[in-house]
Amino acid sequence: MESNTGPRRERGRKFIVKPKVCMFCADKVPIDYKNVSLLGRFVSDRGKIVPRRRTGVCAKHQRSLAQAIKRSRFLAMLPSSPEHVYNISGAEKKA
Ligand SMILES: [Zn+2]
Repeated sequence: MESNTGPRRERGRKFIVKPKVCMFCADKVPIDYKNVSLLGRFVSDRGKIVPRRRTGVCAKHQRSLAQAIKRSRFLAMLPSSPEHVYNISGAEKKA
């Protein structure tokens, strides 16, 4: 016997529920557009800004983070499209 209205239905949700604390609030890390290694953690491999619910960054810091990432993109320090990512990874074996 199967009932569709079971008490627990936790399928279909695949969000990584990890740290819920904003790392910028917790560690007091300044968001700097020159800090590429930091910003790179909030950019997906396709050059997109990772949504807040994935990173756990608070709204305030996500805003300044997005601003910093955009600034950094403008200076060509971060990729803004998959093509750029490809270029970076393929740059080493250039004939
Ligand atoms: Zn924060």
